[in-house]
Amino acid sequence: MTETITLTHHIAGRERAGAVGFEQRNPAAPDDLLIRGPQADTALAAEAVTSARGAVATLEAAGIEARADALARIGRTLVANVDRLALLIARETGKTLGDSRGETMRAARIFDFFAGETLRNVGERYDSTRPGATVEVDYAPVGVVAAITPWNFPIAIPAWKIAPALAFGNAVVWKPSEISSATAAALMEIIADSGLPDGAVNMLLGAGPAGKAMLDADDIDAISFTGSQATGDLIRAGAAARSRRVQLEMGGVNGLIVMGDADLDNAVECTVNGAFFAAGQRCTATSRIIVEHSIADRFIDAVRARVSALKVGDPRDPAVHIGPLAAPRQKELIARQVAGLENNGMKPLFGGAAQPLDHCFYAPTLFDHVPVDSQLTHEEIFGPVAGVYRVGGFEEALQALNGNRFGLSAGICTRSLLYTEQFKRRARAGMLMVNLPTAGVDYHAPFGGTAASSYGPREQGRAARTFYTAIRTVYQKPL
Ligand code: ADP
Repeated sequence: MTETITLTHHIAGRERAGAVGFEQRNPAAPDDLLIRGPQADTALAAEAVTSARGAVATLEAAGIEARADALARIGRTLVANVDRLALLIARETGKTLGDSRGETMRAARIFDFFAGETLRNVGERYDSTRPGATVEVDYAPVGVVAAITPWNFPIAIPAWKIAPALAFGNAVVWKPSEISSATAAALMEIIADSGLPDGAVNMLLGAGPAGKAMLDADDIDAISFTGSQATGDLIRAGAAARSRRVQLEMGGVNGLIVMGDADLDNAVECTVNGAFFAAGQRCTATSRIIVEHSIADRFIDAVRARVSALKVGDPRDPAVHIGPLAAPRQKELIARQVAGLENNGMKPLFGGAAQPLDHCFYAPTLFDHVPVDSQLTHEEIFGPVAGVYRVGGFEEALQALNGNRFGLSAGICTRSLLYTEQFKRRARAGMLMVNLPTAGVDYHAPFGGTAASSYGPREQGRAARTFYTAIRTVYQKPL
């Protein structure tokens, strides 16, 4: 057990205390009170936005080399502190130590990647149709970017919003999830020591109302949000009403097709990883496993055997594969959703509503013979819960895969080139995986979905520039 930390907001380069508004306990050991944090209100939010507005000009004056150096320094500091940060993430969110280390390294690499991108913000020059004149196109900062982040990737998601924002010359106001505020504060401290001007990144703490207070402030140019669909819908409506640029990542109910010709061991690995690792708390997790009849019984037996070898327990124990859910409210929500499925006549093969596990732990749960019109098809369950849909062949599998309004990630396990090609053309999702789990993406490639999963330009990789810059077209005629 370690001591309880009292967190502060961070505005204009200074820590700002406030009355305690929330706390977070270690979800694996609820007696371990990790943090107490303050709740931002509209006055404080307005101050943070004013501070960011002032920093936009300072960032421009500092120039690209200073920004690239600062981002690279943040990356290096994250690497140097990986053990400390991984332990904090595990203790705060229940993510296993291995995943927490991996995520911290990923955040470091994202800062490193965007340090390079800072120097590669290349424009274009055309001859004008008017003789003697030229047209230049450059990619200017958007201005003040509001970043709203969830708890499930408490350091990587903030990194993939804050790093490109800074790389392209924007200042940031950031509201992390209250469930992962200790990790957020640790990242904020590293950013504050990186040599960036005061106010380049401001952090407002608190639960949902703090995010709302931030967005109520005037003078925000763009909003990047990752979280639930309900909150994303609210944010999109507010942004449209105020003509703000907006980018939303809202998860999905992702499907993995397992064809009869698949490599069975690999299909089992993709399924177990996608559905149950990280306790199913990844927006790219596999919820729907669409299996051809010919392989279904053998496949399910193998999945059951593989899951029974997984250890659920304290995420700081290196032997543990699956930690707890991040907070009691997540467990209550998932328990309600699973009970709803069981009340509708579905029986779990393992796991289920009658949970033997304490605290925030939740046993991996798998349903079989799920009908395509089940709630499981249409409603995201953000936990280690998945269902098997048995299908007669590829066309039926594809129809089931595309059978809901989401489209973040989709996968297929097959050795057939024909199925692979058809899947690549016809699966409705922003990220397609062939013989790989639906979850697990690279940090230098675009991330995002279609339909109800995402809105606005892609995040990450070179694609990030679209959201974080404003195109400026300059016509010029020398006289
Ligand atoms: P979850 O808690 O399941 O990740 P949410 O969409 O509730 O999903 O939360 C994602 C982020 O959005 C969190 O930082 C949360 O505090 C924030 N948030 C929640 N409600 C609002 C709101 N009305 N306006 C702005 N931000 C919000």
